[in-house]
Amino acid sequence: MELDKLPFNICFIGGGYISFEFAHVAARAGSKVTILHHGKKALKNFDADLVGMLLKKTREINIEVKLQTMVEKVELIDKDKNFLVYSSVIDDNGNSHKSSVIEADMVVHGGGRVPDVEDLKLESAGVEYDKKDGIKVNEYLQSISNPAIYAAGDVADTEGMPLTPVAGYEGGIVADNLLEGNHLKPNYQGIPSVVFTVPPLASVGLQEETAEKLGLRFRKNYQDTSSWYSSRRINESCSGFKVLIEENSNRILGAHLLGPHAEEVINIFALAIRLGLDTHTLRKGILAYPTSSYNVNYML
Ligand SMILES: Cc1cc2nc3c(=O)[nH]c(=O)nc-3n(C[C@H](O)[C@H](O)[C@H](O)COP(=O)(O)OP(=O)(O)OC[C@H]3O[C@@H](n4cnc5c(N)ncnc54)[C@H](O)[C@@H]3O)c2cc1C
Repeated sequence: MELDKLPFNICFIGGGYISFEFAHVAARAGSKVTILHHGKKALKNFDADLVGMLLKKTREINIEVKLQTMVEKVELIDKDKNFLVYSSVIDDNGNSHKSSVIEADMVVHGGGRVPDVEDLKLESAGVEYDKKDGIKVNEYLQSISNPAIYAAGDVADTEGMPLTPVAGYEGGIVADNLLEGNHLKPNYQGIPSVVFTVPPLASVGLQEETAEKLGLRFRKNYQDTSSWYSSRRINESCSGFKVLIEENSNRILGAHLLGPHAEEVINIFALAIRLGLDTHTLRKGILAYPTSSYNVNYML
């Protein structure tokens, strides 16, 4: 971000939302971009079918995405800050072979974040924590080992995703519990997350595989919407949705959107999931036309 000019070759390590977002910006600005991801599936917290569509689009804008590719080493080769990135291919059994090397002017760590607890000397206050997940808290976000300590946001080991709205929400709960004693517990239902690529990919609620594993009975509305007016109008060839609706109750279990304004439209589904609205109640809304939100009518 502080560079005077865009590097020609950029290598992103890790195929999560941060790598994809920056990769889309850099590729469109003219860089040659590679994403190396160790897993079989990039963007693992998002719907696999929509991720497949976004991956196709990502490759169409000349971003090379290498899956099942484990980075072994990054080497600085000269003072002009040119790097060699060594990686190997991981097969389905987890064995690595076929090493390869790529050159890069910039290497970006997008391989995941950990809570910033190393310098806090938490041991001296008897605060139990995990280097990867953060401070261990009870249902009131209070440390399980030192009742004088509370934690919220990325640093707290909770079910909540490491996202800005979750940090704000947990912060409010901590403030209330500190002032009035433990009485509020977080509810993580219906919190949306977005990959800000072009087009954006958004998700809220259950993934299809999770709903299946839970044995829920649901119907799935899944469609490629690239021929819809909202996509064709702006020449967007990559868009689709998948909405999971529980049989009998008709409540929304999960909604997954890819395409123009997905980052806004997902908020309608987030509200529906959080408030437990069924499709009949949702349909009562009369939405502005022509907007991307109007398409919700066709997704139910
Ligand atoms: C590149 C990137 C993109 C992201 N995009 C999104 C997005 O699109 N949407 C979204 O919802 N989330 C996004 N996130 C995640 C989001 O930024 C975090 O979940 C959120 O900032 C967590 O808030 P927090 O208050 O827990 O921690 P932070 O925002 O990290 O705040 C913690 C603060 O504490 C300070 N601090 C640390 N140690 C000490 C110390 N010892 N003493 C005093 N101060 C200290 C830090 O400097 C920092 O200012 C993104 C994160 C990154 C890195």
